[in-house]
Amino acid sequence: MVGGGFGGLAAALRLAKLGHDVTLVERSPGLGGPLAEITAGEFAWDAGPTYTLLPAVVRDLFRKTGRPVERELELVPLDVVREHRFEDGSAVRLPTGRAAQLAAFDELGPGLGQRWVDHVASYADDWDVLRRGYLENPWQPDDLPRDLAARLDSRETMHKRLRKTFKDERLRLVAGHPFVAEGHELRNVPAWAGSTAYVEQRFGAWTVEGGMTRLGSALVDRLATRNVTTLAGTEATDLVVREGRVVAVETTAGTLDADVVVCAIDPRRLPALAAYVVRTMPAIPPVVAYLGLEGDAPELPHELVLHGDPMLVVRTGGRAPAGASTLTVHGRGRLSEDLLRALARHRIDLRAQVVERIDLSPRDQVDRWGGSPMGVLWQGRATVRQRLGPRTPIEGVYAAGAHATPGSGLPFVGLSAALVAAEVGSA
Ligand SMILES: Cc1cc2nc3c(=O)[nH]c(=O)nc-3n(C[C@H](O)[C@H](O)[C@H](O)COP(=O)(O)OP(=O)(O)OC[C@H]3O[C@@H](n4cnc5c(N)ncnc54)[C@H](O)[C@@H]3O)c2cc1C
Repeated sequence: MVGGGFGGLAAALRLAKLGHDVTLVERSPGLGGPLAEITAGEFAWDAGPTYTLLPAVVRDLFRKTGRPVERELELVPLDVVREHRFEDGSAVRLPTGRAAQLAAFDELGPGLGQRWVDHVASYADDWDVLRRGYLENPWQPDDLPRDLAARLDSRETMHKRLRKTFKDERLRLVAGHPFVAEGHELRNVPAWAGSTAYVEQRFGAWTVEGGMTRLGSALVDRLATRNVTTLAGTEATDLVVREGRVVAVETTAGTLDADVVVCAIDPRRLPALAAYVVRTMPAIPPVVAYLGLEGDAPELPHELVLHGDPMLVVRTGGRAPAGASTLTVHGRGRLSEDLLRALARHRIDLRAQVVERIDLSPRDQVDRWGGSPMGVLWQGRATVRQRLGPRTPIEGVYAAGAHATPGSGLPFVGLSAALVAAEVGSA
């Protein structure tokens, strides 16, 4: 297993449970990738994910590799997934569930509720087709069922779909947000990818009591139970391929023989695979500032999106000493000014309260996590066929993780690990 982020951990545990002798190679000293904590003094923040869609993916992973998740973690549904504040001063709080979303958008403007729920409902069939043919079963790119091919080969982009569906720009901003937040240009994202709006409405958004980092640590603890050998602080540098089949992994700690290799990192980082993904580019993470504040943070939902340029996303969560609080701010777009100054223009002025601050640029994150946790950049409908996974052209090599999925978030990464386990099968 190459890479010890969520994708690598999930795939390693599943394969170990299937009876394989698994060695996990992770270049940094710690496991989990961005599913880990960032600390400064007594402050701590979730470095990356603060919530997940599709909790069934996490539940299935825990159940199939040991004790059910409820025995180890408390998954908590979010009443409000995020609040959007628009440049004209209006705002909407996005709950989950059809009726609640209808009411929330109707408050934003009469009739907008129906438009929103119709838009989300238009994805119900897409989700079903994608789930069955692509996300939960290994796909055969050259032999797709007609309904799946019709989606994957469609020229309709998210930009076009949203312009056609919504006259009100604010609804377009809400619908496009998850993609913009992950670094994509809506003109390059296929319309079918918007089915995440359906997933969010139907199955909700969930966090873990005490922070998402706990999900990472629970999986790391499980590695020992499942007898996975972990080589942390060891970087995989290439694959050894003989007659089209993988036989070993080259690492900074020497060559490791292997019958099967799962690449749960950006495959462009392993020369043997790089040639097969020359057309892909990574999606770039946002600028992130982790803030430790003196006194209380403003009363905010789990996630607040401040539209404009730059676009700012403020997330709550984290741990702070008594009398202090934490926030995380992501920024995208015109960031010539400091994030806190940009935030102050939205009347959230924290400048006098900041006692700890850690900034990570996109470059810092790519260096820290050995690639972009945001996965592959959408460059049009062809991107779906240009990424690897679950199979790769090299026999015995499989791909999991954000670079092997159509959405970079944890649920898709978790599904990709399950697909690899299904493909490799029992020992
Ligand atoms: C700021 C931020 C916020 C996010 N928020 C959310 C959220 O709220 N919800 C959500 O669902 N998702 C979120 N994500 C996305 C989430 O982090 C990814 O879905 C997830 O981390 C991808 O998992 P992965 O295993 O594919 O890759 P990663 O988590 O990136 O893990 C890759 C691992 O491989 C290791 N590695 C790299 N190269 C090598 C090598 N050559 N040899 C050995 N090891 C190597 C790295 O050190 C790393 O540990 C966020 C991401 C970021 C950056």
